[in-house]
Amino acid sequence: MIDLHIHSNFSDGKASVFEIAKKAKELGLKAIAIVDHSIELSFGLDERKAKLRQIEIENARSLFGIKIYSGIECGINHQGEIFLPNFDFDFIIASVHENTVDYYGRVIKCIEKNDFEVLGHPLSDMFEFVRDQKLEEKMLDTLEAYGIALEINSTHRCPPEDLLMSCADRRIVVSIGSDAHRLENVGKVEWCEERRKKYLRRAEIFVP
Ligand SMILES: [Zn+2]
Ligand SMILES: [Zn+2]
Repeated sequence: MIDLHIHSNFSDGKASVFEIAKKAKELGLKAIAIVDHSIELSFGLDERKAKLRQIEIENARSLFGIKIYSGIECGINHQGEIFLPNFDFDFIIASVHENTVDYYGRVIKCIEKNDFEVLGHPLSDMFEFVRDQKLEEKMLDTLEAYGIALEINSTHRCPPEDLLMSCADRRIVVSIGSDAHRLENVGKVEWCEERRKKYLRRAEIFVP
């Protein structure tokens, strides 16, 4: 199993990189990604913190002998922009983090304008917005065209099943993430795996 969406205490997670890696090793996970929030948030991962975190990640890699990717989760603003510190991450997740009437527009603009690998918690129900079949198809077309992975996220319990169903005949790449902010949720991706096997068994699984 892999878990490619874990927050550490370098942003708003509670656990340290060491604790997360130790837990992942105990759980027998093959790979994890430490993915902290980016600089659009005051507590986000700036360049200095990214460098410090990298040292901890490298130490944990050699200590526990598991794959630990160094990632970041950027919020997508109303113009479809994301903001990154000056650092070479293994991969980038982009997610909408606030209520918006233009969810699909933001995501599509973001894909067209920015380099990133994974769309985080797609259509999470933490926000109120009206689903729109046409725009949703356009969003999936864009994801597919740019090869952006669709995340199945067990904290947000998303994307909704009907969205996964409409991905069945597409070449959509899937990423698996717990979005853990606490140690007890690290590696809790069973829900994601069930969904993936049910709807996207043949889909390629994202690996950074
Ligand atoms: Zn998020
Ligand atoms: Zn997250």
